[in-house]
Amino acid sequence: MTRAVVVGAGFGGLALAIRLQSAGVETIVLESRDKPGGRAYVWQRDGFTFDAGPTVITDPACLEELWTLSGQTMASDVALEAVQPFYRLNWPDGTNFDYTNDDTVLRAEIAKLNPADVAGYARFLDYSAGVYREGYEKLGNVAFLDFASMIKAAPALAKYQAWRSVYSIVSKFVADERLRQALSFHTLLVGGNPMTTSAIYALIHKLERDGGVWFARGGTNRLIAGMVALFERLGGTLRLNDAVTRIETLGDRVTAVETASGWNTPTDMLAANADILHVYRDLLPGSGAAKRTAAKLERKRYSPSLFVVHFGIKGSWPGIPHHMILFGPRYKGLLDDIYDHGVLSEDFSLYLHHPTVTDPSLAPEGCSTFYALAPVPHMGKYTGDWETVRPILEQRILDEVGRRLIPDIHDRIVTKFSYAPTDFAADLNAHLGSAFSLEPVLTQSAYFRVHNRDDSIPNLYFVGAGTHPGAGIPGVVGSAKATAALMLGR
Ligand SMILES: Cc1cc2nc3c(=O)[nH]c(=O)nc-3n(C[C@H](O)[C@H](O)[C@H](O)COP(=O)(O)OP(=O)(O)OC[C@H]3O[C@@H](n4cnc5c(N)ncnc54)[C@H](O)[C@@H]3O)c2cc1C
Repeated sequence: MTRAVVVGAGFGGLALAIRLQSAGVETIVLESRDKPGGRAYVWQRDGFTFDAGPTVITDPACLEELWTLSGQTMASDVALEAVQPFYRLNWPDGTNFDYTNDDTVLRAEIAKLNPADVAGYARFLDYSAGVYREGYEKLGNVAFLDFASMIKAAPALAKYQAWRSVYSIVSKFVADERLRQALSFHTLLVGGNPMTTSAIYALIHKLERDGGVWFARGGTNRLIAGMVALFERLGGTLRLNDAVTRIETLGDRVTAVETASGWNTPTDMLAANADILHVYRDLLPGSGAAKRTAAKLERKRYSPSLFVVHFGIKGSWPGIPHHMILFGPRYKGLLDDIYDHGVLSEDFSLYLHHPTVTDPSLAPEGCSTFYALAPVPHMGKYTGDWETVRPILEQRILDEVGRRLIPDIHDRIVTKFSYAPTDFAADLNAHLGSAFSLEPVLTQSAYFRVHNRDDSIPNLYFVGAGTHPGAGIPGVVGSAKATAALMLGR
């Protein structure tokens, strides 16, 4: 029987492991942390459940497929619930915009901001549907191993003006600045700057419209637990709390892996879900080619990091929807500060997660769970001391949520903690504390991203945010499909 090792139990690693095990490959997943999930880790504190990362689940069909491969159904392991509105967007002047796939509501919301933009939105939707078809349905889960595959994609890239940014394309269709923000901010969910990320990423709009926005009952980590349960039922093995310290090679083949506990196991093939630079730089000491790839990867652009304040408070907030974006006074200027200047600016835009409005079981009776997330420069751009910054930023973010939504927030807090760029680096081996790996700009996408199979070690594969198509749950689950096809010789 063929044997495979997957390094890392993030969404991508687990999705790949399920695909391999479903195809009869004996698969072992090795994870350094005490729980699976990676960016989708979870904490239980004082009766509150805090999901660490992804909360907006899109394209549930790509997840369901992991169960149908072996004739099972996702519903037997995890319940997904539709979330409406998808997001409430809020600006400092108090304007609200409910973003949804209910067409009548959405058009009315657009008309409220600028009636003239209703027609432009319809044209944007057509554009988004086109890039969704070309960029996601056709190319989202195929590997780009050679330049020829890029050439094949070129006509579609040209047709949809992939060299333009999402913000620039959106601006072609709608005139109101708030609508331009509302239709372009999504790239931030996968680490991309709306001002520079390829317009191809406008496909996210169509993806959400058709597939909806979902939440896993019990929190996103329940979905991870469901994937682990499926993988183990299929006969796979998950080994936690044991970081891989070395991938052994002989000639141009991976032969074995060694972990921090001294455990060593031979393998026919290996797929890395861990941070791409960590793998090439730290885990392949015997390979000159890996050293050269690591040096190249160090010169690439990485997505920013995030500062996340988790807080559990007394009281229920039926008026605060599950997902909110609290835009700050600046959009482009703030993005420049985060992506280019490396400035930790006075103002910020926040994503506010309020899961207890959908699932009250995530907090003790009469209490609510939240997190507020601010994109911040990664540690290569902002080199200040995060332990000094942490309490100051925590306070300022909570003050802002208080000013805009929950006036007596500080008096209501039962428990709180924050997650900073240094935590991404320490817990996940994330290069520069980046929350999303390589920045999704055109010159780092598809063939120009880390290949799903290494160029010089043919039984070494990659899966997850650093590979094609990129970050986000649908992205890394799509990368698992592309990588599985290569590993299974399909
Ligand atoms: C705060 C936040 C919010 C987000 N929100 C959303 C959202 O709403 N919707 C969405 O679709 N996406 C969202 N994303 C993005 C999404 O979560 C990620 O792109 C995705 O989960 C990354 O999955 P991955 O497969 O690349 O693996 P990761 O989650 O990065 O997991 C990699 C795993 O490898 C392990 N590892 C590292 N080194 C080693 C080693 N040496 N040995 C063994 N194991 C190792 C790590 O511990 C980790 O478990 C969010 C991300 C963050 C951080």
